[in-house]
Amino acid sequence: MASFLCISEKCIFMIVIDGGYHEGGGQIVRTAVGLSALTGKEFRIDNIRAKRPNPGLSFQHVCAVNAVAHMCSARTKGVFVGSKSMEFLPGKYGGVRDIKVKIPTAGAIGLVLQPLIIAAFGVKGKMNIEIEGGASFGKRAPPVTYIQNVFCRAISAFGCDVKVDVLRHGFYPKGGGRTRIGIDVRERKMADLVSFRDGGCVNGLSVASRDLERRDVARRQAESAKKILHEAGVFERVSIDTRYADSVSAGSGIVLWIGDNMFLGASSVGEVGKRAEDVGGEAAFELIEEHKAEACVDKYLCDQLIPILGICGGKIKTSEITKHTETNIWVVEKFMGVVFCVNREDKIVSIRT
Ligand code: ATP
Repeated sequence: MASFLCISEKCIFMIVIDGGYHEGGGQIVRTAVGLSALTGKEFRIDNIRAKRPNPGLSFQHVCAVNAVAHMCSARTKGVFVGSKSMEFLPGKYGGVRDIKVKIPTAGAIGLVLQPLIIAAFGVKGKMNIEIEGGASFGKRAPPVTYIQNVFCRAISAFGCDVKVDVLRHGFYPKGGGRTRIGIDVRERKMADLVSFRDGGCVNGLSVASRDLERRDVARRQAESAKKILHEAGVFERVSIDTRYADSVSAGSGIVLWIGDNMFLGASSVGEVGKRAEDVGGEAAFELIEEHKAEACVDKYLCDQLIPILGICGGKIKTSEITKHTETNIWVVEKFMGVVFCVNREDKIVSIRT
């Protein structure tokens, strides 16, 4: 739905979004902000994160919105923690190439990055982002290691190279990560991510904070994942690195991925009372399920690529059409004037040309 609203005494055309639609989470805000910067289209969103137990904007969303607003000199209204309604009016775009973001909580670095990368697709050339704070491993969010090894590989196929350096890992509850990101949009290229190859090699990274080294946490996570993946008997090789990281609060996590021109990832995050073996096992079983589906793109990456598909065109075959994917399609169609085609049987999402 779009409507005419009067803001600052001038009537403008503005997209109006129901933030409680379908999945009703923060992804609607992130996608809308990224695409608003890219297209120059203004929008208002109401009922922000209405389907979450803590509705409204959280720190993570406020940081992301403000960073994109800085990138495109946007005027904003209602951007504060707890806000259930906000407006975003993008301005001049393309001049700001160095962005610094501060996340004062354990908000997910991977999620703050999402709208910035979407917006970057509108500017040819290089952009640098520094993120101070936040969590590199968070719940219900892509770990930064997943962004590096699954998301970034996939968007390179669409013509954008993203290099992510983790200078310090961050864990719940304090966050405190430090990340440096270089984005280089070479071109906007249509990509077909549909092919599946059986077998494949699994790579992974198991990380724990330095104080968990005496309990051997990173190695136990990795060993448990390796055992389960070997027992599955379908992978050609399994190689998982372990790392102990200096961080401001204790924590751990593991990310596994299959390369070979496929973009299948799985992860798990440590918690108090959860055995390291279970953390590794959870990620391994999730990856085995992804592999069984014979897709090219995992179910999380699929929703994350929907805006890029809307911008560049192409096709992806995934393991599951989630509510996140359906919701993101709904948002992208509002901004991009494209129509998606979802083949539910084969789980292929494409742009109808
Ligand atoms: P929260 O409710 O946790 O604050 P949110 O409401 O801001 O989150 P959502 O709308 O739920 O965010 O979007 C979560 C995003 O994180 C989606 O893009 C989803 O694909 C991604 N994600 C969640 N879990 C994983 C995971 N394990 N691996 C990769 N990506 C993930």
